[in-house]
Amino acid sequence: MMSEAALQTPPLAQGILGGTFDPIHFGHLHLAETARETLDLARVHFIPAGSPPHRDTPAVSAAQRLAMVRLATASNPAFSVDDHEVMSPSPSYTVITLERLRQALGASVPLVLLVGVDAFLGLPSWHQWWRLFDLAHIAVANRPGYQLPQMSAELQSQFNARMAMPAALNQSPAGKIVCFDITPLSISATQIRSLIKARRSVRYLCPDTVVDYIDTHQLYR
Ligand code: ATP
Repeated sequence: MMSEAALQTPPLAQGILGGTFDPIHFGHLHLAETARETLDLARVHFIPAGSPPHRDTPAVSAAQRLAMVRLATASNPAFSVDDHEVMSPSPSYTVITLERLRQALGASVPLVLLVGVDAFLGLPSWHQWWRLFDLAHIAVANRPGYQLPQMSAELQSQFNARMAMPAALNQSPAGKIVCFDITPLSISATQIRSLIKARRSVRYLCPDTVVDYIDTHQLYR
């Protein structure tokens, strides 16, 4: 029998980090780990995009991007990898993924979509972006080179209406926007791809396991 206190404990928030991860790097991992710690998340689900609707065809296969995400997250018991978008033949829309997770995890679990400021600024271009707030909270991390005041008017009005402190995330399943601070890391997958093309080292920008995978499979050359 569960105690009354246990029954009243709200379900623990689940973080979701989507991305192309082309390749995964310490900017992603540091964002996820800081979110887990400072937003009190039980778990962070890494969800590599299959055929991304917003960008050019990735330089490596979806299966290879997925393999690198698995290698990079393997040592953290609070991280898990969701391969659903990679395996799906249809485009990767975040609203569809959130609907699936909501079904799987239940109506009361707080879901927290983790994004860097650059991704947040682009939100109004996402498929049915207004529905995101019915499905999840959004937590925005700082990223060098991008500033929140660059928000469009439509995003600004959502931000003004939904802005909350991180503690609010565990009090409802969806609908708030919070900002959280991470140690700024000026690392991007674009930069990693161009370094490799120029035959430069990317060690210490990505986990060693990812660097070794890139070397072994001769990716991004
Ligand atoms: P690319 O350079 O190919 O556009 P990227 O490095 O931005 O890739 P993505 O996979 O597109 O990586 O990013 C996934 C998510 O991680 C996005 O929400 C993005 O804002 C965030 N992110 C990536 N790198 C950083 C970083 N260095 N600091 C903060 N957030 C980051």
